[in-house]
Amino acid sequence: MQQPDINDFPFPQSPVVPQLVEGDKTIQFQCRKGIKCWNACCSNIDISLTPYDVLRLKNHLNMSSGDFLVKYTVPYELEPGGIAGIKLKPVDEGTACQFMRPEGCSVYEDRPTSCRYYPVALLSMRRQDETTDRTSYAMVQETHCLGHNEPRSITVNDYRKEQGVEIYDELGRGWRQLILKKKSAGPTIGKPTDRSLQLFFMACYDLDRFRQFVEHPSFREVYDLSDTEMSQILGSEPELMQFGFRLLRQVMFNEPSIALKADAYDKRLSRKTEREAIMDEITAKIPAEAIRHGDPNDKYEIKD
Ligand code: SF4
Ligand code: SF4
Repeated sequence: MQQPDINDFPFPQSPVVPQLVEGDKTIQFQCRKGIKCWNACCSNIDISLTPYDVLRLKNHLNMSSGDFLVKYTVPYELEPGGIAGIKLKPVDEGTACQFMRPEGCSVYEDRPTSCRYYPVALLSMRRQDETTDRTSYAMVQETHCLGHNEPRSITVNDYRKEQGVEIYDELGRGWRQLILKKKSAGPTIGKPTDRSLQLFFMACYDLDRFRQFVEHPSFREVYDLSDTEMSQILGSEPELMQFGFRLLRQVMFNEPSIALKADAYDKRLSRKTEREAIMDEITAKIPAEAIRHGDPNDKYEIKD
């Protein structure tokens, strides 16, 4: 089994080494209003976001994905020089979450996966000789969190249900698989170009911009998608997001699941790989986008 990397845990800053547990493990934990440590966990955040987290939050806030990214997130490297992740950006000059209020989380119904799971963390691991990932969990016991002293026992599986993480896990799975695949492939697939990093970022986190990209007539000059398929993809944001993961598997890992137009190679891909052609499309459609992801504290800007 591929060993989990401590930096992959949602609490990389935690001095406490998480314990691996299975879903049927009973834990003692309850978070409740009135507890002495209320909001302590939201006062010093390090919260990674999944694409589905972004979708839920931007809709909760009635914002475009681009505006959400600029106002509420910072990018970081999921691997050195490689694909990017995003984290919640804390308040200016501070460490607290921008959504924290004295009464609690102001986006509670749409809070991110990591916030729902805490103090449990979801881990995806994969044997090097396997193509499917396995799920495990980690339990983190931080001294500031007094929920571990509350007299309530619950299994990890029931805690997941209580916190409503199942839909988040289901819709985040394609993204986690992409990351696992990219990390385990290492240099064998070559260093991604800036263009493929941009495609990854856009398809995963900037869903509204990705919609424009898919809606553009040139997209269907390359990909053979029926009107019915297009309506399905564009008819729901989770469908569009999942389609983005499929496209990324095809473009980044040569795993074709989307048919190409018979004449696409001659018409549009002459002397170029599919990946390069698609990246050209993206560059043309995002002329002024500047995404840097070297320093986790870097801010990035997305211009219209
Ligand atoms: S999103 Fe809500 S639960 Fe998560 S850190 Fe922010 S305030 Fe806390
Ligand atoms: S019990 Fe833990 S999760 Fe709940 S408010 Fe306190 S620190 Fe946060």
